[in-house]
Amino acid sequence: MRAVVIHAAKDLRLEEHEPGAVGPGQVAVRIEAGGICGSDLHYFNHGGFGAVRLREPMILGHEIAGTVAETAPDVHGIKVGDRVAVNPSRPCRACRYCLDGLPNHCLHMRFYGSAMPMPHVQGGFRERLVCDAAQCEPGTRVGATELALAEPFAVALHAISRAGPLIGRRVLVTGCGPIGALAVVAARHAGAGEIIVTDVVDEPLAIARRLGADRAVNTAAEPDALKAYAVDKGSIGAMFECSGNGAALRMGLDVLMPRGTLVQVGLGGEVSLPQNVVVAKELAILGSFRFHAEFALAVRLIDEGRVDLKPMLTGSYGLDEARQAFEAASDRRRSMKVQLAF
Ligand code: ZN
Repeated sequence: MRAVVIHAAKDLRLEEHEPGAVGPGQVAVRIEAGGICGSDLHYFNHGGFGAVRLREPMILGHEIAGTVAETAPDVHGIKVGDRVAVNPSRPCRACRYCLDGLPNHCLHMRFYGSAMPMPHVQGGFRERLVCDAAQCEPGTRVGATELALAEPFAVALHAISRAGPLIGRRVLVTGCGPIGALAVVAARHAGAGEIIVTDVVDEPLAIARRLGADRAVNTAAEPDALKAYAVDKGSIGAMFECSGNGAALRMGLDVLMPRGTLVQVGLGGEVSLPQNVVVAKELAILGSFRFHAEFALAVRLIDEGRVDLKPMLTGSYGLDEARQAFEAASDRRRSMKVQLAF
């Protein structure tokens, strides 16, 4: 089988790999669609991010869907021919966080396409993937391209769940990459009354509007556009900071209303906060990392047509054009979500 392997920054290769045998409780999935994520792009463009660096070749990819091609004899509930989204999250189910119901904080997580542990966890951009049957979430109505959006949508659903009830609230999403755009969809699904989204590039904002945002603000073109939300101690109920930009977080503290909630979703560096504003407005500042139960929910919402994520998809490339796909995905003016078609 062919696989998309990163060796170092800009050194992306299509290689032959052994698919491996199907063991007890496992299935083989013929991968059909794989979405390129920000972390894949960091490996492609920079060889890693922060302290996480590539130390050996690694198959990229964790937003994957396809069709079951083989099942172990002891697998029930999933059969050959089923179309499935594959959950890339593989917690150990034995450490104290797994046992405490927080598997996204697993001490021995083996998330696909991650250079955090050594040896690296090989990813899902391959023609055939052997995985646990329990990782497969079947969809019956939509195709693999839409099912492959389940993983980033699960990230957004988890972020929204961190904020508590959103019904009727005014929501601000800062940073309109794929996760920010999907946070718009998730917030709308959760009953948000009004959704404002910001970015410094127009093209992703236009997609966010199609996905349900009420107002899209280019903060590079209109730096003062959000000031009106800061009067009388602020009028934003919940904010999802998806840019990783410290300035966006700082601005959020001004526009959030008393007892407002800020969920930090984007990864960034260190920022300083005005302690007095956090105290006087009784703000809640929370983090959100990956997902767990939300993966199955994401598949269900996509498969049942209760959300339409198709405006997210801006490009699809064959395996032979993997490099072009990664180049296109790196250009935010051209691309929201680029997928590989296997
Ligand atoms: Zn664990």
